[in-house]
Amino acid sequence: MKEDGEILVVSCYELGRPPSGAALPFSWLKRAGFFPAVADLAVDAPSDHEIARAKLIVIATPMHTALRLGSSFAERVRRINPTTKILFHGLYAWLNRAHLFSRDCQRADYVIGGEAEEAVVAIAEALNVGEDPTALPGVSSQIRRESPILKRLSHPLIDTRQLPALESYARLKRDGREIFAGVVESTRGCKHVCRHCPITPVYNGRFYGIEDAVVFSSVKRQVEEGAGHITFSDPDFLNGPTRALKLLQYLHRQYPILTFDFTAKIEHLIRYKEMLPHFGRAGTLFIVSAAESLNERVLTLLDKGHCAGQIREAIRLCRTAGIAVRPTWVPFTPWTDLTDYMELVSFIEKEQLAYSIEPVQMAIRLLVPPGSALVNLPQMKTHLKGITPDGLSHIWEHSDPAVDALQKQVTEIVSKAASLREDEALTFARIKEATEGALHGTPASDVKPFEKPGLRAPGLTESWFCCAEPTEAQLAGV
Ligand code: SF4
Repeated sequence: MKEDGEILVVSCYELGRPPSGAALPFSWLKRAGFFPAVADLAVDAPSDHEIARAKLIVIATPMHTALRLGSSFAERVRRINPTTKILFHGLYAWLNRAHLFSRDCQRADYVIGGEAEEAVVAIAEALNVGEDPTALPGVSSQIRRESPILKRLSHPLIDTRQLPALESYARLKRDGREIFAGVVESTRGCKHVCRHCPITPVYNGRFYGIEDAVVFSSVKRQVEEGAGHITFSDPDFLNGPTRALKLLQYLHRQYPILTFDFTAKIEHLIRYKEMLPHFGRAGTLFIVSAAESLNERVLTLLDKGHCAGQIREAIRLCRTAGIAVRPTWVPFTPWTDLTDYMELVSFIEKEQLAYSIEPVQMAIRLLVPPGSALVNLPQMKTHLKGITPDGLSHIWEHSDPAVDALQKQVTEIVSKAASLREDEALTFARIKEATEGALHGTPASDVKPFEKPGLRAPGLTESWFCCAEPTEAQLAGV
């Protein structure tokens, strides 16, 4: 187990960003005296030879797309190397652990949820001395189901020397230029418990900081590699707003031309509105915020902690602070009707957000993985129709078939638009026309693009979304 490549650490997909989910376990294993190999399926899958020599394969699955890819990769591993042990960690592995261990699937030997890295090392050490790791705390297996590990870890400095170079990953698009972009995490978990969020069943309202020294050294290394922009990939950077601002201000003093983006909930953008201009002055270019819906009932059922009026307010506050906002949405839920969808499309037009929202978002259906807190919601239960054939999410149907039909139509529109690299203002106009057709049965006419916003909001070149299904090309690549 201590020879080169006897442990293989694998990232599946992290929204086109350099893979934190593999970099941290890799660094922990190195600190413990192992010599793991590391691979990112989003860039280049490991060879059959690399799989054949591994005795332990550690697969990171922080999101649905990653789990779909990781599950396919594990199937390939089982064919090439049936005796290797496969360890899954990450939010979606933990939510889907019953399926990963099931007789039909048999992809996983071990699954860890929550703060996983210390347990990853413990498994490697047990296997190294010929012991069975299934009794270790936090390690779920065929014979035992453990809770997620919820404790603060002391992380090593992150070592990414064997990972693909920054040029392999998504870049910042800004003013017609593309700039190398890096990524860093300063916290994991979240202090909120939104009902549809995969973090809720795993972290249940807790979050854990990663030491400043680890954050700073990670940014320094990526700047030295050429990064001109850094994404803070914390689930919500403003869970600890004072520390977040201090981190950014320190980094801004060190690297005055470096820019940043982060994710924060609408409620936080309003509560900490006085801090927004400071974030802007420290180099924050844009903020991603999960607005989800304009329908108050949907927002209540998802336990989002904001109302539709606050979405408008948060956008205004960010813009006033000189920060672009990129709202994200769950446009199709069991409780969203055609009128709601039209209201969202009109909102995007009126607020001039066509260049701030990836069109693929307009086709997103609410994802309900097996361990989701939504499953116990009575208003959800009536819509559930079993499990998808891959076993990784619940099937649900809308009570109005026209809504499900519109979702399919929008999926076709955005897929075609992406392949043609169509201007988003035209794609949103096509979506509006399809929605009008669904609502009023009006025939297709000449589509006039939405009024083009003066400036394209800065964003990353990867337009995919964490709960989207992988493309055929992504699946073929594993
Ligand atoms: S605030 Fe964001 S990260 Fe936190 S639980 Fe809600 S959706 Fe998840």
